[in-house]
Amino acid sequence: MKRLFASFLSMCLPLVSCSIPTPTVTPPPGADPLRTAWEDRSIFKDGLVASEQSVLDGLDSASIYHIEFKIADDLYHITGTEEVRYTNAETVPLNEVRFRQFPNILGGEMMISSLKVDGGSVIPKYELENSLMTVPFSSALEPNQSVVIQLDFAVTVPQTLESHYGVLAYAEDVLALAHAYPMIAVYDDEGWNAEIPPESGDVTYADASFYIVRVHAPKDVVLVTSGREVRRDEAGQVQTLVAASGPARDFYMVASPLYEELSQTFGEVTIHSYAPPQFKDGAQLALEVASQAIEDFSARYAPYPYTELDIVATPTLAGGIEYPGVIALTSRRYDVESDDTGASSKVVLEGITAHEAAHQWFYNLVGDDQLDDPWLDESLTQFATLQYYADEYGADGEAGFRSSLEGRWANAGNAKIPIGLPVAAYSEQEYGAIVYGRGPLFFVALRDEMSREVFDSFIKDYTETLSWDIATPEKLRSMAEEHCSCDLTSLFEEWVYE
Ligand SMILES: [Zn+2]
Repeated sequence: MKRLFASFLSMCLPLVSCSIPTPTVTPPPGADPLRTAWEDRSIFKDGLVASEQSVLDGLDSASIYHIEFKIADDLYHITGTEEVRYTNAETVPLNEVRFRQFPNILGGEMMISSLKVDGGSVIPKYELENSLMTVPFSSALEPNQSVVIQLDFAVTVPQTLESHYGVLAYAEDVLALAHAYPMIAVYDDEGWNAEIPPESGDVTYADASFYIVRVHAPKDVVLVTSGREVRRDEAGQVQTLVAASGPARDFYMVASPLYEELSQTFGEVTIHSYAPPQFKDGAQLALEVASQAIEDFSARYAPYPYTELDIVATPTLAGGIEYPGVIALTSRRYDVESDDTGASSKVVLEGITAHEAAHQWFYNLVGDDQLDDPWLDESLTQFATLQYYADEYGADGEAGFRSSLEGRWANAGNAKIPIGLPVAAYSEQEYGAIVYGRGPLFFVALRDEMSREVFDSFIKDYTETLSWDIATPEKLRSMAEEHCSCDLTSLFEEWVYE
């Protein structure tokens, strides 16, 4: 089928979710899921497809978050408590742990109080416009040792979409609650990673972790969260939901009184699609596209790890934003009959849905430093979207999407600007043109160099080997060279490096 492709707006950022009664592994009545022993991972099992459940026997040093959120009646004031077990996975002792307080740089506010490490009060240090909190240890934390950090927090959610595409916002009767709890930063070969994210790129860089989360919210809203719902209660005007999610790189939540839900199960995976009733056709289209994308990417890369995927329509100014197990898509593209910006919303909605679905593999399953190496998630996700069009529509579909990538690169005059730079090194226009346009064309060139067969086996190996880990450009290149038994220096010099 021949199709025309508009240039896609899809900016992207992180996704997980839950909802709807699909109870199974539930804590015994009376037991508090937030008191689950740190070593006990049984609560996460039913949120993972059978082939992925063995991951629960590994990831020994993954952080485990127990979080409680209270969403006020106004839907933009949040209070909460967090208890998190952090394990030193490094080979050196650590004197501190660092948390991000992203609401403070996303147009909102986050305050922290009652901070304790292993039960003892500590005084933290705040930096980076209060988006970074350093929590000192009284004595060094040796490799493989753990500490438990407890704190209370309060978040005020902005009521505008001005900051970072409105990832964290209460607008148009939708609360989009992104990065709204204190998140542990990544410690890697650069040490603790923390910076203020540029407006045009993703906000977070995170390790795979586990989350048990209880949410109290007004009972008239539909709550959609990362992970799988393990318990739901209602008392008076308040609903209480407990979700378990992990491994996952974030915990996301959306609440709206407007949402209606469509659901469909495909094999082990149930997809829920939430949107206001006037956008039912868009919600149905997104659900169908996501189901095809999950099937295509599961065959090409690795199985989709979770038993649920949630799709939510939000007012975000990005085309869509990825979170572990959740895809947020802009509600501005849900009127599938419209083409008022010169591009058919139906075509654009399909493209952004496939793109955000691909991030479940390249961002969540295989992580990367999204600020320093955005090509490892965005360019590879755009390439996966190209593979979606090839799988769904054959050569014409692939050619159509490929010409949209070439069109994007042309926005920077087809300049041979390296694809492997940090977000901050590009102008806003270059970032879209190079990372979303030229970047996926590098993977086409790599496939041409290696042959399709070798490339297919390389990309599967890359995804499976680095699942729940952090990819780097060096790991990607060395795995590619191993597979092709070739030297890719000149190709990487032409496309990737400065
Ligand atoms: Zn993206």
